[in-house]
Amino acid sequence: MEERFDIHSQRHLQEEEREFENSLRPLTFDDFSGQEKIVENLKVFVSAARMRGESLDHVLLHGPPGLGKTTLSNIIANELGVGFKVSSGPVLDKPGDLAGILTSLEPNDVLFIDEIHRLSPVVEEYLYSAMEDYRIDILIDKGPSARSIQIDLNPFTLVGATTRSGLLTSPLRARFGINMHLEYYEVETLTGIISRSADILRVPCEPAAAREIASRSRGTPRVANALLRRVRDFAQVKGNGYIDRAISAYALEALNIDKYGLDEIDNKILLTIIDKFKGGPVGITTIATAVGDDAGTIEEVYEPFLIKEGFIKRTPRGREATELAYRHLGRKRANEQGTLF
Ligand code: ADP
Repeated sequence: MEERFDIHSQRHLQEEEREFENSLRPLTFDDFSGQEKIVENLKVFVSAARMRGESLDHVLLHGPPGLGKTTLSNIIANELGVGFKVSSGPVLDKPGDLAGILTSLEPNDVLFIDEIHRLSPVVEEYLYSAMEDYRIDILIDKGPSARSIQIDLNPFTLVGATTRSGLLTSPLRARFGINMHLEYYEVETLTGIISRSADILRVPCEPAAAREIASRSRGTPRVANALLRRVRDFAQVKGNGYIDRAISAYALEALNIDKYGLDEIDNKILLTIIDKFKGGPVGITTIATAVGDDAGTIEEVYEPFLIKEGFIKRTPRGREATELAYRHLGRKRANEQGTLF
């Protein structure tokens, strides 16, 4: 009974979080901050497709979670003035599901497939001819009466998103005309995103407080918005509803948010390198085994931020923890002789 309640409340929370995210999602290129190069290029491609009255080339968006892949694909559809359908790799597990969604698309619509690296090989195979010739061959019936029928589709744009572009097969990758990598956001940009979200939520937020929250958001808008939400709770309960520097510092402290916004896995990776491998160099697969995650995820999802912020160095012999990592975790580096300095 209790367990059921837990599961239910967990689901409820996820649903609420999704709604919260949706309410803050920018709907136009002008509302979307950061990723300037990507946005600039997409604007050109979208205008050109509109002028020709054609579908936009297929787009692959890759990069760590929470950087705006879903948001951008939604904006692409809005700016093209076409319909938008959403699915994901693990959900589309049968060719029939894919055929169903593809045949429901109106001319030039956008189909967004999240976690596209998780499509099953059979479904992926069907996607090839759909992407290339706007056609699918479906096998109907079994045994001697089995036959394949060809279905013509409306031209459409597939926007694929992935956190693990390394797992994409090369035939699939080759079918995307536009291929873009999203980068972590600068604190400045995140500060702007937080101020915009605070306006939408109608919660007053001092610029210095927005900046404080931004600096602990791991370069990620999703984290920034989630922290703002929590800080708002503190401002309402412990303050007067106004988010200023003092209440944000108090809230971030109470929430145990790391000064650099590192999460549990980031810290685990750094501690592994420092405590188990004397600061490195150590290979990525060894780190992955010790942390209990797979090497590809560490390499594509966690490591880029740690390298960008200067916690890890990549050397020909493996990964090394930097001075900053030692200081941040309050560890002292042992010198060659094993004594501390
Ligand atoms: P992803 O699909 O890459 O995991 P999302 O597009 O779902 O990330 O973005 C997560 C949240 O962050 C959304 O609520 C969205 O509103 C916000 N967000 C992402 N990028 C931006 C941006 N550039 N400007 C403003 N908000 C953003």
